[in-house]
Amino acid sequence: MLFRDEALVVGPSWRLVLHEKRLACVECFTTEDRLERCVQCNFPLCRICLAGKGDTFWHATVECQHLRGVKFSANNDDEAELLRQIACLLPLRYLLLRRSFGDIDLCESGGRLAKDHASVAHCLAADFGVEEESATAAVRLMKANAKSVKDGRGSALYRRFSLVNHSCLSNCKTLVGACDSLTVFGLEARSTRNIR
Ligand SMILES: [Zn+2]
Ligand SMILES: [Zn+2]
Repeated sequence: MLFRDEALVVGPSWRLVLHEKRLACVECFTTEDRLERCVQCNFPLCRICLAGKGDTFWHATVECQHLRGVKFSANNDDEAELLRQIACLLPLRYLLLRRSFGDIDLCESGGRLAKDHASVAHCLAADFGVEEESATAAVRLMKANAKSVKDGRGSALYRRFSLVNHSCLSNCKTLVGACDSLTVFGLEARSTRNIR
């Protein structure tokens, strides 16, 4: 075992909502057909998460109160717009939680943002009361560092794991999830061969 890490922030993945265009519970990312709505902000939640019986509480504890403050209500009429708003939750949670874990010095993806990602940054600024510059920086940071979790339905940001370099011929593998004493989004990096 090389190291363990806890997720700083977790949200619905862009692959799920922007590319596969699937509505998901904003807490556990299930895509079941009968999703309910949060009575405060109208974002989709499954019945388990709506009842507060899920494994995590990102929505209730991180953004729902902020959304009330900026008078946000998720779009019910335009599904493409709703999916874009759900895609904003990963960078929004990062921005709202940054105060608690402090600034982290991670690289941001450079160059021109793809159309989908630029639209998330615009939506963050227009609908969620975030400054344009912070919105773009948060989107770039997620793009460069977020790791796929929950079979690709979620994305998570890890402090230590973000410092690991990618290699197509990697010498370690990662394990995420509630097994071997890991928490729901606990990550363990294990070497697959001797590292000198
Ligand atoms: Zn759920
Ligand atoms: Zn809510």
